[in-house]
Amino acid sequence: MANKKRILSGMQPSGPLHLGNYFGALKNWISLQDEYECFFFIADWHALTTLYEDPRKIKQFSYDVAVDWLSMGLDPEKCTLFVQSRIPEHAELHLILSMIVPVPWLERNPTYKEKQTEITNVDMSSYGFLGYPILQTADIILYKADFVPVGIDQAPHLELSREIVRRFNNLYNKRVFVEPDAKISEVPKLNGLDGRKMSKSYNNAIYLSDSEEEVRKKVQIMVTDPQRKRRNDPGEPDVCNLFPFHKIYSPAEMQAEVASTCRTAAIGCTDCKAKLVRNMTDGMRPALEKRKEIVSNPKRVMEILDEGSKKAHKVARETLREAKEAMQMADGFPS
Ligand code: SF4
Repeated sequence: MANKKRILSGMQPSGPLHLGNYFGALKNWISLQDEYECFFFIADWHALTTLYEDPRKIKQFSYDVAVDWLSMGLDPEKCTLFVQSRIPEHAELHLILSMIVPVPWLERNPTYKEKQTEITNVDMSSYGFLGYPILQTADIILYKADFVPVGIDQAPHLELSREIVRRFNNLYNKRVFVEPDAKISEVPKLNGLDGRKMSKSYNNAIYLSDSEEEVRKKVQIMVTDPQRKRRNDPGEPDVCNLFPFHKIYSPAEMQAEVASTCRTAAIGCTDCKAKLVRNMTDGMRPALEKRKEIVSNPKRVMEILDEGSKKAHKVARETLREAKEAMQMADGFPS
């Protein structure tokens, strides 16, 4: 374990996880757990940025996320799974860092403006939302993570964390924190049923916990090539919202066959969808079986999070101690 590089990442508990979450992040986490020392956390304090009016939901969502993780293959024997709010050091380091981060660094963050426009049902003008990249930085650097797994479009977000690390280390003249690097993974493009980004708030998602019947119903209403209005119109898989799912779930020969018969209109969308449903439900079945076993023992799920949080707490406590020592504030007052 000692020689392994360390990885850290988290997910907000804002509802059950869907295929977009799995192929966008979780699948990659699962593949990293053998090679790296991995810390994965449920970012329940981050979830407060949008769920502050009804925080009671966060508890259930956190449990749901843990069940999704375990069902899909995160293994607590190989990685540390923990809950952010169990580690008060995240909040304490967030406060310390917020003293050294100039506000313009936060205001220029493109996600800040994007989300404020995107999320219209919640007032996003809070101080906490502006400062969430600082909390995110605290999350990462408390564990001295070498890498943060991200998709290529999120790589610039890490730059702010790296800048904050440099500022802290320079100010207090000690290399307490490690500048995290992005571990970029290729993420397949997978949209929701209506062709927009897959998201719980758009009500267009296929969830990891969906039954075979739910998957079938959802695939049936999925939009396809918008130009293909009639059965005899040829289609174009490259612009079809459904074809990326074939690329994931169907064998290569079937993908090729679907693509060519779609282009000649030899296959209709209904038949194409039926083929996909068979492959998707086959692909999703093992995790659904595992889920049954996991939900039958909720106490074990909580134990896994308890054990992981204790382990994470030890690391975070030590890093924060070092940081406060560098600031000559280890005992609470400048010494
Ligand atoms: S046949 Fe399949 S790939 Fe072609 S447009 Fe219809 S659903 Fe899409």
